[in-house]
Amino acid sequence: MIDLPLSVRMPARYLGNEVNVPVKSLDKGMFRVALAFADTYEVGMSHIGMKILYDILNGRPDIFCERVFAPWTDMMRYMREHGLPLASLETKTPLNRFDMVGFSLQYEMSYPTLLTMLKMGEIPRHARKRGSRDPWVLAGGPCAVNPEPLADFIDAFVIGDGERVVLEIADCLKRSRDEGIDRDKTLERLAEIEGIYVPGFHEVNYGGDGRPVKIRGSGGKKAVSRRIEKDLDALPFPTRVVVPVVRAVHDRYAVEIARGCLQGCRFCQAGFIYRPYRERGVANVLRLLKEGLEETGYSECSFLSLSAGDYSEVSRLLEVAVERNLSSMVSISLPSLRVTSLTPEMIEGIKKIRKTGFTIAPEAGTQRLRNVISKKIDEDEILTTIETIFRAGWHLVKLYFMIGLPTERQEDIEGLVELVTKAWRMARKISRKNEVTASVSTFIPKPHTPFQWCGMISLEEIRERQNYIRRKLRRRGLKVKWHDARLSYWEGVLSRGGRPLGEFLYRLSEEGAYLDGWTDQFSGDLWERISNEFDLSVITSGLRPWDPEAIFPWDVIDVGIERDYLWREYQSALEAAVSPPCPEGPCRRCGVCDASSGVTVRRSASKAISREVKLPEARQLRDGTPPQTLEVVFMKVGDARYVGHLDMVRAFLMAARRARLPMAYSQGFHPAPKVRFSSPIPLGMESLREVVVFTLTDPVDPVQMKKALNLFLPKGLRILKAKAGFLKRSEGFDTFKVSKYMCLFRVFDAREAALVMSAARRILSGGFEEVLFPLKGEEIPVSLGNVLKIEEINSYPRWVKLIVQIGPLPKGVRPMPLMKMLFEREKLRVDSMRMIKIGGISQTPGEPGRGTGHE
Ligand code: SF4
Repeated sequence: MIDLPLSVRMPARYLGNEVNVPVKSLDKGMFRVALAFADTYEVGMSHIGMKILYDILNGRPDIFCERVFAPWTDMMRYMREHGLPLASLETKTPLNRFDMVGFSLQYEMSYPTLLTMLKMGEIPRHARKRGSRDPWVLAGGPCAVNPEPLADFIDAFVIGDGERVVLEIADCLKRSRDEGIDRDKTLERLAEIEGIYVPGFHEVNYGGDGRPVKIRGSGGKKAVSRRIEKDLDALPFPTRVVVPVVRAVHDRYAVEIARGCLQGCRFCQAGFIYRPYRERGVANVLRLLKEGLEETGYSECSFLSLSAGDYSEVSRLLEVAVERNLSSMVSISLPSLRVTSLTPEMIEGIKKIRKTGFTIAPEAGTQRLRNVISKKIDEDEILTTIETIFRAGWHLVKLYFMIGLPTERQEDIEGLVELVTKAWRMARKISRKNEVTASVSTFIPKPHTPFQWCGMISLEEIRERQNYIRRKLRRRGLKVKWHDARLSYWEGVLSRGGRPLGEFLYRLSEEGAYLDGWTDQFSGDLWERISNEFDLSVITSGLRPWDPEAIFPWDVIDVGIERDYLWREYQSALEAAVSPPCPEGPCRRCGVCDASSGVTVRRSASKAISREVKLPEARQLRDGTPPQTLEVVFMKVGDARYVGHLDMVRAFLMAARRARLPMAYSQGFHPAPKVRFSSPIPLGMESLREVVVFTLTDPVDPVQMKKALNLFLPKGLRILKAKAGFLKRSEGFDTFKVSKYMCLFRVFDAREAALVMSAARRILSGGFEEVLFPLKGEEIPVSLGNVLKIEEINSYPRWVKLIVQIGPLPKGVRPMPLMKMLFEREKLRVDSMRMIKIGGISQTPGEPGRGTGHE
C-alpha cells in the first residue's frame, strides 16, 4: 500500500496501480525502461505514442517498461521537502536506477520541465556528465525533428516512427550493459541504428548571430534520416491500454486510423514530418476498436488521424462502428475533420449515440490567406458545414484560427472577425441557445515546412492583433480564446533555435521554470529575466527570417522531404497558389515516397468490412416491466482512498462495461447509465461497506457478476456481495447520522504509541468542550461530547487503533478533517492517519442503537 499526502491535488494520479498495468518481476537481467512525459499524468496518459511504446516494450519478457510523469507543483514541493526522488509510477523506482529513460517530446515549452525531471530523478542533466552508472537518456516525438536546443542533455534522439526502433535501441543498450561496453562505444552502436541521432557525434559550428555556419556529421553524413514505417497494419497497436485512475485529458479509447496527411497545408509541421500518408486497414481498425473497448470499458472512443475525413470509406467505417457500439452506448468521435470531408450522413452518424463536440479549423479569415497556407476550403463550405451542424442539434461550434501567418495583412484580420461574426449570426438565427467559440493561436513557422524560411511576428504585433479581434468580437454567445502572447513567443524561440539555447534552458530549469505549458504555471517574467543573462539576439535568432541558402539548426535531421520542394512550396505560398493534395498514384513531388522501398501513400481496403451487422436496439428499459437491479456491496480501502468519488464512479462504470453488465441508460441527448451510489466517500476516507445499485435491462447472475466486476476494478475497490432484484419505487439507502470509524495511526515505537494514546484520552476526556471547526473562512462550533465517542483505544507494534463514533455533525463539518484537527491540536502529526468507516448507527453516540456494517 502506498502512502501519499492527501494535501496534494488528485493524489490518485501518483498511485500507478491502474487497471491493465502489467505485472513483471524485477529480475537482475531485466532491462528497465522509464517512459517519461514532461507534463502531468492526465496529459501524458492521453498520449497515444506513449501507449504504443509502453505496450511494445512490455510485450518483451526481458524488458520492463514503466511510466514517469511530471508531478504537479504541490507534489513536487512535498517530494523536495521529504527528500524523495522522482520515481516511476509502477514500482516507485527512482529515475536514476533505470537502464534507459525515454522522453516523449510533444511541446517545446516542456523542455525546462524535462530538465527538472532529470534533476528530480537524480540524473545529471548534461549528457557529458553522465557516467557508467547513469541511465541512458533518449528522446523522440514530433519536437525531435529539431533536436538542437536539447543537444546538451539528451544522449540520443529517435527520429520518426518508433514501433520497431524502440526494441532495436533496447536490445543495443541491453547488449552493451551485459557486455560491459563503455558509454562512448555504446553511443557508436546506437548511432548505427537507422533513425538515431547522437548529437555528440555531430559537430555544429555557430556564428556570432546564433545561427549555424557549418555542420559536420558522423560518418560523413550531415543529416540523420527519419525512420518511416511502411505499413501500419504490420505494426502492433495496443488494446489492453492502462486505464487512468483519474480522468485523462482525452478519456477514451483511441485507434490511430492513419498517420500522415494528404493535404499538405503549408503551416502544419505534422503534415510534413509524418509523410507519406498511411492508413490502417478498416477491418483492423474495427478489430482494434472491439478489443480495445472490451479490454478497457471506455464509453467513448476516437479515431485518430491528422485528417480523419480523408480516411478511405470514413463514412462506412463510422457507420459500422456506430452500429456495432450502439447497444453499449459507446460514443464515437473523429477529432480532426476537414470541413469538406464532413457529409450530412457522417454528422447523423456521430449524432446517433451522443453529440461529441464539433470543431472546425478555417485557420485564416480570408480566401487569399487560406490559399497562402494551402488550406483547401472556401467560405461557403465553412458556413454550410456550420449550418448543418447547428441544424443537426449541436449548440456549440468551435472555430480555430491563427494570426501571424506569412503575408498576413490587416484585411485578413478583419476577414477573420467577419467570418466569425457570420458563423455567430447563423448560430443565433437557428437557436438562441447556440454558441460559437473562436480559438485564436499565434502561428509559429515550424522547421521542415515551407514556412521555415519565414520570421515570426513580434510580441507587439501578436498583442495588437489579439486586441483588435477581442475588441471586435464582443457579443453574447460568442467566446474568443487565445494563447498567452509570451507563451507563443518563447515556443517560437525553442522550436526554431539551436544549440546556443542549451544554457538558457538549463538556467530556466535552475530558476524553477516548470510546467510552463500550463498558462497558470507559465511565468513570462522569469523567462524574460533569464533571457537577459544572455545575448537576446543569439537566443532568439530563430525568430528572424532566414536566407534561401541558410543552414538551419534542424538540418542535422532529414525528414525525407527535399529542400527544393519546400522552397517551391514557399514561393507558391507567396503567390497565394494552392498546391494539390498527395495524388493516388505514383508521385515523387516532395521526395518522401519511394516505390522501390515500399514507402508510399497507403490507402485501406474497404472490402474487408463485414456487412452482416444487425442494428441492435438501444439499451432502454422496456415499457411495463419493473426494471431489474443489481445491488452491490463493496469496500473502498487502501490505495483506493486516494480516488475521489467521481473517479470511483467512473471506475465502476468501466468495470461494469468490461463485465458486460446490461446497464439501462437514461433517454435524451446524453444517455447516462442508471446507477446510484450510497453516498460520496470523501477523498482519503476508507469504508468497509458502501452500496451501489445498477438498473439493468436484463437479469444477471449476481455471483458471476461479482466475480467479473472484481476482476476489472482497481486495487482497493472490492465487491463483497451482489444481489439481483427489481427496482422498488421507494428504494433508498440507509442514511446514518452517526457512523463508526476505525482510526489508525502509524507509530515507530512504544513512545510514539503512548503519545497518540494519551492524546486520544485527553480528547475523550474533553467532555462537552466546544471546538471551532474552520470552514470557508468561518468557524463552526462543534460540541465534542455530543458528536464524538471513543469506543476503543489499542496499540499494536506499528499502529495505534481507535474505534470512534462520530455524528451527527453540523453541516459542512467532515469527520476526517475534524479528527485531524483534534490530533493536530495535541501537536501530533496526522499525515499518516487512516480513517476507515466501519458502519453506521441509527442513534446518537452514547445511546443504544442499531448498528450496521462490519465490526
Ligand atoms: S512524394 Fe508525393 S505522394 Fe508522396 S508524400 Fe510527397 S507529395 Fe505526397
